[in-house]
Amino acid sequence: MILFFGTKSGKKEAKTLHHVACPHCHQTGTLTVVRQSNQAHVFWIPVFTINNTSYAECSHCKRVYYKEEFTPEMEQALISSK
Ligand SMILES: [Zn+2]
Repeated sequence: MILFFGTKSGKKEAKTLHHVACPHCHQTGTLTVVRQSNQAHVFWIPVFTINNTSYAECSHCKRVYYKEEFTPEMEQALISSK
């Protein structure tokens, strides 16, 4: 029997940080945080979530920030918006 097992990207959530300035270009409200989960699947049926990746992108300067690079302001805006 052949078992089809693999991973694929799950749903994607985007959230705009309205009151946070981009550390690179200093524009406010241009950062969008994208959260995406990766799921393991068997026969194309998602069985469990492996990890969640999140990154922020600035729509002004196109700079991408990974979670490790988030400023305290960005972290705070994410926590308070939950
Ligand atoms: Zn920027």
